[in-house]
Amino acid sequence: MSSLAQHKFPLNPHHGTATRGRFLLCNTRVYCSSTTTTTAATKLRSDAKQLIIEPQLESSKPLVVTSTTITNPPSSNDPSLQSTWSHRAWVAAGCTTVLVSLAKCISQSAILRVWFEPVLAGWIGYILADLGSGVYHWAIDNYGDGSTPVFGSQIEAFQGHHKWPWTITRRQFANNLHALARAVTFTVLPIELVCNDPSLLGFVGVCSGCIMFSQQFHAWAHGTKSRLPPLVLALQDAGVLVSRSQHAAHHKPPYNDNYCIVSGAWNEFLDEHKVFQVLEMILYFKLGVRPRSWSEPNSEWLEEVEVSSQISAQ
Ligand SMILES: [Zn+2]
Ligand SMILES: [Zn+2]
Repeated sequence: MSSLAQHKFPLNPHHGTATRGRFLLCNTRVYCSSTTTTTAATKLRSDAKQLIIEPQLESSKPLVVTSTTITNPPSSNDPSLQSTWSHRAWVAAGCTTVLVSLAKCISQSAILRVWFEPVLAGWIGYILADLGSGVYHWAIDNYGDGSTPVFGSQIEAFQGHHKWPWTITRRQFANNLHALARAVTFTVLPIELVCNDPSLLGFVGVCSGCIMFSQQFHAWAHGTKSRLPPLVLALQDAGVLVSRSQHAAHHKPPYNDNYCIVSGAWNEFLDEHKVFQVLEMILYFKLGVRPRSWSEPNSEWLEEVEVSSQISAQ
């Protein structure tokens, strides 16, 4: 998950939405300052629709309302969706790192003649990779913005994905995976260079492999049944990979569930026990930070948002 999806998206237009919304708000507040209260202005700041309606009710001057689409999804041949040689090199490095870890796990298992523990460790790695994908996805969906250190581009990428979710299926393979592949290379390579424990190597190899390919699993979850390979369909139907229906629920209101994108095995438990909602409450009361999913309606997460602008006719 992670880094990825709309990693190279022209997200600036999207963020331009928010920025522009705030800019329009400023204009409106100046214009209406003699007739609106502080409470009304605050309300307008959090709701773009009210931005349109309330000044019209309170202003004695006629308003000209114009609707402008300020965001556009990338076309199929947009360069931001294409793989570069740099992307391919990082994916090759990530795959090599994972394969070396698994190969070393098998060779050490053969030398030590232990198989149960490494296999169990690999299975645990697969299960925890799904949980990790959900926690990470929840965090960057709800907190921070484009200016957040380290994770800013990924936060922007996931917000862009919520705006144009279908475009992930048009993104080329290496373009979609390169950021995670880079993270896996830097994280796993040092471990496998110094570690000879087959169980740890099995865990690291499977877990990092699932995390690196989680963006591909995610892309398949957005695919249509008729276009997906039969094996992928079978794995989705068996629950080995996150299913299309389960991930589709994540892209519907209230946008605060089904975050896991490897197998989706954790989604039911996490959502049933409201684990993320509890974490959100803890963070809110401890740090005063509100998650994006609490904002309703959240225009930043709606597909194909149109932002209306308004100007005074006089
Ligand atoms: Zn999301
Ligand atoms: Zn998605």
